[in-house]
Amino acid sequence: AEGGCDDPSPGGTRGGVIRRVVIVGGGTAGWMAAAALARGLGTTHAITLIESASIGTVGVGEATVPPIRDFNRYLRIDEDEFVRATSGSFKLGIEFVGWNGEGSRYFHPFGFLGPDMAGADFHHVWLRHLAEGGDPDIARINPETAAAREGRFARDTRHGPLHHAFHFDAARYATFLRGYAEARGVARIEGEVTAVERDGESGDIAAVRLASGAAVAGDLFVDCSGFRGLLIEGALETGYVDWTCWLPCDRAVALPTARIADPAPFTRSTAREAGWQWRIPLQHRTGNGYVYCSSFLGDDEAASLLAARVDGEPLAEPNRLRFTAGHRRLFWNRNCVAIGLAGGFLEPLESTSIHLIQTAIIRLLALFPGDHVDPRLAERFNREAQAEYEGVRDFVVAHYAVASGIDTPFWRAIGEAPLPESLAERIAVFRATGTVLYERGDLFGPTNWYAILTGQGCAASAYHPLVGALDGKLVRDRIAALEARCAQMIAGLPGHADFIAAHCGA
Ligand code: FAD
Repeated sequence: AEGGCDDPSPGGTRGGVIRRVVIVGGGTAGWMAAAALARGLGTTHAITLIESASIGTVGVGEATVPPIRDFNRYLRIDEDEFVRATSGSFKLGIEFVGWNGEGSRYFHPFGFLGPDMAGADFHHVWLRHLAEGGDPDIARINPETAAAREGRFARDTRHGPLHHAFHFDAARYATFLRGYAEARGVARIEGEVTAVERDGESGDIAAVRLASGAAVAGDLFVDCSGFRGLLIEGALETGYVDWTCWLPCDRAVALPTARIADPAPFTRSTAREAGWQWRIPLQHRTGNGYVYCSSFLGDDEAASLLAARVDGEPLAEPNRLRFTAGHRRLFWNRNCVAIGLAGGFLEPLESTSIHLIQTAIIRLLALFPGDHVDPRLAERFNREAQAEYEGVRDFVVAHYAVASGIDTPFWRAIGEAPLPESLAERIAVFRATGTVLYERGDLFGPTNWYAILTGQGCAASAYHPLVGALDGKLVRDRIAALEARCAQMIAGLPGHADFIAAHCGA
């Protein structure tokens, strides 16, 4: 039986040399994987990508987090060229509106509030500043918040860089990466995969068969086929870990609209009666969508509520999507690695899916098999991917867990839902001590947790004793120095639209 002493899966034991990599799917995940594999292995491995225009892509996924800049650096992509090609804009964080009651708003910035002090994370210094009656506005010390509020942007200032990510047009991003990958030898096949052939002896995937009748054989398969998980689930029946109990939103409707103002350098998330609405400003249009829970809102109602709440003329019919929060029981099963929506899904509240694609690809490269798929590589991949998913899940659930939201049945239900144990512990420790429990290497660190927990109304009742032991003047001087630096960084910054026009206008 699978998982028993005699069975080495996940990973399989097929002999031979891993030379032919077949990627099924040409959405964001497929082309990101193709580009990175071409960059790392293009000269030694045959990389093929199969995509189907008639099936199409999910058509959403346009806001990112700062580590995407590392991915661009790995590919040696010029940032201006990338923003121009994708009609992108710059993102300094997320503005949350209405999550803490009608009229409330706060900003979750990229970057940091300040450097550690006395060995304690900086937010403890800020907590002491607040406890002593200081101004609570983080825009005084955080340049990303201050710049976002004023609609300004520059990559670098004379006093340091602004931490940023991007908004981009997902279709143009795939086209851009396709050009990159094909130029580095990736073979693209247009066609629909209709069957998956398994090796009779090992059970590994041997080939995929297309509607045309052609078979595409491979040694390693990367399943980027989207929610359907054609290989990882359709063929290998890997199973799914369902997190609906913690993240009950299971539908979204997306509606792009014409641009009516300069793009803001941030994503906006607005709490709504049965979920939340996103706004993602691009150069040529604005992305909008409503993520909601189908037990509390009908699809037609969601679409008409969204249409009534967007600015600008709709540019397309509403795009309706269904999903289940969670992930495959194994991301890497036998000789198949599932990346992107084929691997799992967490609602885009913190724009993490493309990041999870990126880390999966980098992890695959780091653990790339040599002459056979060693199950220990797969086990390692799965352990790391699962821990990463759980970390992001806790951060996303935290938004709902402490928000007062809106007085509707959805928000009452979510307010009463149990929390993952790991998250319940984090919140309790933060409330009691101000300390954020996190693992080194987590995507979201103390600044992020502080911003979200306090922004959503969860107050810490103490700060770190090491900061309590500091001389009061030292603390005040540190805050004053950060305020001065922040003011210097903001002074003279160009408007976001002006920066785009000067450097990377599409
Ligand atoms: P898809 O885009 O679905 O691509 C699947 C590919 O497989 C397509 O090319 C398709 O043609 C191909 N395919 C499928 N079946 C076959 C077959 N039989 N034969 C051949 N080809 C086949 N992520 C973020 O980081 N930020 C966001 O702001 C964000 N917002 C989102 C909002 C919503 C509502 C949703 C649902 C997701 C969002 N995401 C976001 C996630 C993001 O959209 C995805 O992670 C990303 O687009 C990757 O999708 P994919 O490539 O895995 O799948």
